[in-house]
Amino acid sequence: MKKWLYIVLLTVLPLVSMAQDYYDVGVKHIKITTSSELNDKQELIICPMDLMEDGFCFPLPNCKILSPYGMRNGRMHSGWDIKTYANDTIRCAFEGEVVLSQWFADYGNCVIVRHPNGLETLYSHNVKNLVKKGEKVKAGTPLSLEGHTGRATGDHLHFETRVSNQHFDPNLLFDFENHCLRKDCLRITKKKSGIKVKKIK
Ligand SMILES: [Zn+2]
Repeated sequence: MKKWLYIVLLTVLPLVSMAQDYYDVGVKHIKITTSSELNDKQELIICPMDLMEDGFCFPLPNCKILSPYGMRNGRMHSGWDIKTYANDTIRCAFEGEVVLSQWFADYGNCVIVRHPNGLETLYSHNVKNLVKKGEKVKAGTPLSLEGHTGRATGDHLHFETRVSNQHFDPNLLFDFENHCLRKDCLRITKKKSGIKVKKIK
């Protein structure tokens, strides 16, 4: 095989396989300095029904799930990937305050909203952010137009739930199949490297 062809194949083949397998590549975790950190003795109880009191909006109606939270190809995937089409409007899940609205190499354009109970939701790979840090938002407020900025191979929303700068599985709060909230409350405590999240039965 000609040397130049070999080099082209070596360069292109991993990109092709990446496009087929997944949509973002274990984006490098970003921390925000203003996060309300849990201390060792604190616990945070998050109840979906309390969150709903001030309204709830599924961030992206008519969506299709691409990829869940968890280990993926040996790397941690820190959120859920939800299929979008370019310029779809992403809406805020609950009321709160925008604590971050900026661009990162991996996340692309990214928005993080802190809700009154300490939960934070993250929306990324946006083609354009529509809100600024410090803005108060309500459930349903348009936050961004979606795209595939950052390390993404197709238009999608990378959605995270976080407490104390640590991500946890959004599926514990959101029913992605039915676009609603789950019923169980969550008890969140600090552990050595991160947080522990347990359902309260
Ligand atoms: Zn993702």
